Amino acid sequence: MKETLNNALLLVLVLGCFACSKPASETKIEYKTEGKDSTPDVSEMRNLGSALPGLDHGLCQSPINIQSSQTGQEGRHLISINYKDEINKIENLGHTVQLDFAEGSSITVDDTTFQFKQFHFHTPSEHEIDGITYPMEMHIVNIMPNDAKNETPQYLVIGILFKEGSTNKFVTDFLDAIPKQESETAELKIGTVRISDLIGTIPSHVIDNYYHYKGSLTTPPYTESVRWYISKHVYEASEEQITTINEIEGNNARHVQGLFGRPVLTN
Ligand SMILES: [Zn+2]
Repeated sequence: MKETLNNALLLVLVLGCFACSKPASETKIEYKTEGKDSTPDVSEMRNLGSALPGLDHGLCQSPINIQSSQTGQEGRHLISINYKDEINKIENLGHTVQLDFAEGSSITVDDTTFQFKQFHFHTPSEHEIDGITYPMEMHIVNIMPNDAKNETPQYLVIGILFKEGSTNKFVTDFLDAIPKQESETAELKIGTVRISDLIGTIPSHVIDNYYHYKGSLTTPPYTESVRWYISKHVYEASEEQITTINEIEGNNARHVQGLFGRPVLTN
């Protein structure tokens, strides 16, 4: 009886091993990652039982898990920032806390310019680094002006991760100003909230030390026209500060999405 049981266990283990070592070629999917034909054959993937909800939106989705050992070397970019630390509104959007920039600040990568628009928070982080989720992520959203004649809005988003640690002065600057009611906006006196309180001058940390890839918005309509720059430097905020933001916006991180051959570059 005991021997039969052992044999049965052995069989389960052997079957288990075969299941694990199923060759990847059996589930090979043809797809293109460039141009407008990047829409995957979702029905084929569903038939294979491998489709995830995010595939309905394409194969260049965000956020992703950044595997630091598998990043490629970035070619040199000329990045210049014309930044005035002018933040004039704070909004409780229910699903996030958002602060808006006054017009007039821009970032130029090579010869493409984006206007600083807003920054907002996700609790926990959306991007992962080597499988690690951080308790908070801030997105600085920059948009290419409409006069660039692109049908699809083009974005450059800078992602900043936070771990639990010391009280963060920059977060303290606006925490008490967040409107208590959902959908409310409050005016901010320019100069009361300053990104320089977080990162000194933006170029020094974020632009000199980043992971870069092409992806999407992480909220509807999940548009795949985002140049992501995720700062390698992880900032600190206190547990209380992160909890306060989380209590307002809830858990608002999208699941990580597949890379599907996209390169993640680092400088
Ligand atoms: Zn975001």
